[in-house]
Amino acid sequence: MNTDLSKNQVLRAVKLAKVLAFDYVNHIHERRVYPSKQALLALKHFDETLPETECDPEEILKQLHQYASPATVASTGGRYFGLVVGGTLPASLGASLLAGVWDQVAALENSAPSAIYLERLASQWLLQLLSLPTQSSVGFTTGSSLANLVCLTAARNALYQALNIDLLETGLSNAPALTVYVSEQAHVTVLKALNIIGIGRQQIVSLPCDDQGRILMKNLPDFIPHSIVCLQAGNVNSGASDPFSDLIPLAHQAKCWVHVDGAFGLWAAASTKTQHLVEAVETADSWAVDGHKWLNTPYDCGIAICRHPEAVHQVMATQAPYLSPGLAMPPKDMVPEFSRRARGVEVWAAIKELGQTGIAKLVDRCCLYAQQLATGLEQAGFTILNDVVLNQVVATLENPVHLDQIHKQIEENGICWFGKTHWQGQAAIRLSVSSWVTDSRDIETVIHEIQMVTQKVVSIHSN
Ligand SMILES: *Cc1c(COP(=O)(O)O)cnc(C)c1O
Repeated sequence: MNTDLSKNQVLRAVKLAKVLAFDYVNHIHERRVYPSKQALLALKHFDETLPETECDPEEILKQLHQYASPATVASTGGRYFGLVVGGTLPASLGASLLAGVWDQVAALENSAPSAIYLERLASQWLLQLLSLPTQSSVGFTTGSSLANLVCLTAARNALYQALNIDLLETGLSNAPALTVYVSEQAHVTVLKALNIIGIGRQQIVSLPCDDQGRILMKNLPDFIPHSIVCLQAGNVNSGASDPFSDLIPLAHQAKCWVHVDGAFGLWAAASTKTQHLVEAVETADSWAVDGHKWLNTPYDCGIAICRHPEAVHQVMATQAPYLSPGLAMPPKDMVPEFSRRARGVEVWAAIKELGQTGIAKLVDRCCLYAQQLATGLEQAGFTILNDVVLNQVVATLENPVHLDQIHKQIEENGICWFGKTHWQGQAAIRLSVSSWVTDSRDIETVIHEIQMVTQKVVSIHSN
């Protein structure tokens, strides 16, 4: 292709994308948080049969902005409290756009020198921020789902290795069953990861929890030696963490591998105010944490951290004659993906932008706002079901019909958005505060909105 022609096409696409992105960002704070019915219906515009002929790149971008941008959830604004979706830090977003333009494959040193250089730096910073062992390996995955998978696969193979069974050689079929202890409150993605790596339900021992979702020490079974013990930092509803300082020494005495799913909750380690909630978490063997949740990098970004890098390497490494040897443990040998985007660059940019103090402040601010939301909800007549120790609030009303109607009305009004859940057998609403954008005015607005809608729904029903 003519270089000028291709260059001009790319330049035009980038220029237009910039204009449209600018327009999106410029209006995010005024627009509805959850899209209108009309915006959702307009997605039908995309319904067409497989295109047979070419289409102008600029025309494609215009269509996207006209029909897809309005049907997005405004999770980068300050009043989205669904999932644990943080916003996107400016430097991290910019880095993502730039890295998109680079189109690097972060597999090997010679496929993406600058990206891999920055990922290495980001890895060291992450370990420092989270106070994890400095020799740990860090792999950038699509999310904590895959980070859990990486760590649990490494754990499985290493535990068999200790029994002189090389799974890479003999496979699982003749291996003695491995026991995995998980909290009865484990995140569904932990169970999915276990499922993928061939651990059946009969091998999983579910550990009972207290009313906050923390594993109970009372009646804890003796761990069968050489098992996996899967703990949690940050319950997806309550935000509570397991008692690591009690559990990890017991597990280690039994030569078990301790994995911690800390998708968002591990960030408690980044602030002196919340550190105590995850005390001793650094004594585990592996950790899964997200960049795209509380660190506010763009999607998708998970981080698999392992105290025993060789255990990860052994199960993830690939060899082929066309892959020149370079770094001892290149990125492609530490995660399932061979080719992947350079998401570590966004992590580097996020940490560089906030610094250690800024990250601690972000964590503290979100926790404070969660407490303010809880107080506001109580004033509106809600019962708070969790101890609001982190960034999560779970609240309920006596009448579940009211709860549904309030949720529906708030979604329709578009001022803010949060999800529904079930906690300790009760239908509830669940608010996660995790965006750098959210400020005290947003919290006031949201409290006002909840109080107003609740009053309206409850008074209609009492008349
Ligand atoms: C979100 C979450 C996960 C899954 O992480 P993804 O990044 O969505 O793959 C796992 N565990 C917990 C506790 C979570 O909050």
